[in-house]
Formats: sequence, C-alpha cells, structure tokens
Amino acid sequence: MQGYSLVAPAKINLYLEIIGARDDGYHELAMVMQSIDLADQVDVVANGSENIRVQCDNLEVPGDKTNLAYRAAELMAKQFPEQFSKFGGVDIKIYKRIPVAAGLAGGSTNAAAVLVGIDLLWKLGLTKVEIEDLGATLGSDIPFCVAGGTAIATGRGEQLSEILGLDNIYIVLGKHRSLSVSTPWAYKTYRAMYGNTYPQDTETLTARTSSVHSAPMIKAIVHKDAREISQQLHNDLEKVVLPEFPKVLELREALTSSGALGAMMSGSGPSVFGICESLEHAESVKQKVRATIPDQDLELFTTQTIPQGIHMSDFT
Ligand code: ATP
Repeated sequence: MQGYSLVAPAKINLYLEIIGARDDGYHELAMVMQSIDLADQVDVVANGSENIRVQCDNLEVPGDKTNLAYRAAELMAKQFPEQFSKFGGVDIKIYKRIPVAAGLAGGSTNAAAVLVGIDLLWKLGLTKVEIEDLGATLGSDIPFCVAGGTAIATGRGEQLSEILGLDNIYIVLGKHRSLSVSTPWAYKTYRAMYGNTYPQDTETLTARTSSVHSAPMIKAIVHKDAREISQQLHNDLEKVVLPEFPKVLELREALTSSGALGAMMSGSGPSVFGICESLEHAESVKQKVRATIPDQDLELFTTQTIPQGIHMSDFT
C-alpha cells in the first residue's frame, strides 16, 4: 500500500497578545508562532477500504473520530469525494513525542500532517495556501502548523504572514505529565477577568489591532538576536494560568534562575520554554532545572527552532 511518513513539528508562541472579543465568539489575537524540532511522526497509508482509521502509541490520545487527525481525513473525503472513492480510505499512525494538551498544538500539527499526506496520496496538487484554508475550518492553529517556520498570526490565529525563519535557537521545554490546561478555560477565564478592557466596537478593535506591541519581537527575530527575543517574550494568558497552576510558575522561575535568557509559557500552557544561547547552554539549563525540581512528573526536553512545518520524514 502506498503511504507517506510525515514529520509534524510542535509550535511555541513567542508572543501572544489578546486584543479583544470577536463577533464569532473567538478572541482577536496577535501572535508570533514558531516551529520547534520536537515533533510527532504521522504515517498516512492508503488502506484500500472505505474507512479512515487512527492509531496512536500514546493512550491519552483518542483513537476515534474525536482525534483531530481523523477529522482532517474526514474533511478531505468530504471535500474531494471523487478522489476518496478512487483512492479509498487511509490508516493514520501517530507516533507521539509532543506532550498532549500542553499548548504546543500537538493535535493541530497531526491534522496538518494528514491534510498534507492525503494531498500527496490522492494526487490533488493543492497549494500550501489551499491546504491552510482547509485546515482553518478545523482549527485556528492548523494553518500555521502546515506552513511552520516563524509567522505572525492574527485574527483567531489563522491569518498568517510568514517572517524570516528563525532556526537554531536552542530551547529547554518543560511540561508536567499529569498537568493539563484546557484552552477554552484559559480564554474564558481571561475574558471574565479582563473582558471589561476589550474594545467595545469594531472601530476601536481595529485601532487596537493596528497598535499591537509585537514590533520589537519581530525586529529581534529578524536580527536572530536570542537575548532580545528573550526580553520581548509576552503571553497574556500567563495572567490567568500562572496564579491557578503554581507548578507552571515554579517551572518558569526555575528556567530563569537556571540561566535561561528568558522563559515563558507557550499558548495556554502548561508547557514552559526557556531560550538558551547554545546547545551546551541548553543542556546545562536543563540539568539545573532538573536539580531544582526533581519531580519525575516533570518532562524536560532540549529542542531548537526550525524554519519549516509539515515535511517528509527522512526515513521514507
Ligand atoms: P493547542 O496548543 O492547539 O491548544 P494543545 O497542544 O494544548 O493544543 P493537544 O495536544 O492538541 O493540545 O490536545 C488537546 C486535546 O485534544 C487532548 O486532550 C486530546 O484528547 C485531544 N486530541 C485530539 N486529537 C489529538 C491528537 N492527534 N493529538 C493530541 N491530542 C489530540
């Protein structure tokens, strides 16, 4: 059976500013998203049947229709019924390395890989933008996961403008295995606490959007200046997640006191990353964090920024 093995990288948010509420119930955001080399492997293989099947080696991840990767395949089948009946269904195998429910877009990147894999398998010849647009109907982070690299994301997070890829910035990433933060909870709580500061009309929302504060971060990225990037890290959701999850705050503080240039929670957490100067520096920060928080529930990774999203595995 024909198939493709794809690398599906996680993302971190170097910048996340909440601008206000939108009419569709989502938040208007200004973010800087970054791919990292912590990645899942997603195999998409033609199965010669009419079925879509998903399997994952991590039991926390659903193996049914609620898996975002399944929903991506279902979307393709609906969108391209002729190719679906010609080529048949797919078996999707996910080898999970990205921590689940961590603010690292693990589900979204799996869905992005399935969209790319089926495009190849069914010889659709879609452009990257066409795949991103399909992905946006399933989840706001999916378009970025398709494209990857470094991008400014606005709207719900689905409107992208790519900036110069930021590769080889070393990062220590930590997540407590038993801790998860619901993204809807984080935004709902933020709205309850800060909703009164949101712009009340479209005009003010537009004005606030054009005065977002991410410009110094973008300048630092263009200069590949890890120190300056560390100074400009920002995530509004820390205001609601850190007080509620002391372990996340403890990890953030441990990264800073262990010598990371800067540390911040990614997305709605609970993963926290620290920026480092080199691989050696990252290894030393990781060891110091481990000594500060000896809890075996805490998973620590050394990773680096990469300039790409979904791509073919070297092993095919
Ligand atoms: P985001 O950063 O986009 O908010 P996340 O990294 O916080 O995402 P995910 O790892 O995508 O969160 O998991 C969120 C929930 O989605 C999990 O609790 C899981 O049950 C469900 N889920 C569905 N499909 C997947 C998948 N392919 N991989 C991981 N989780 C999935």
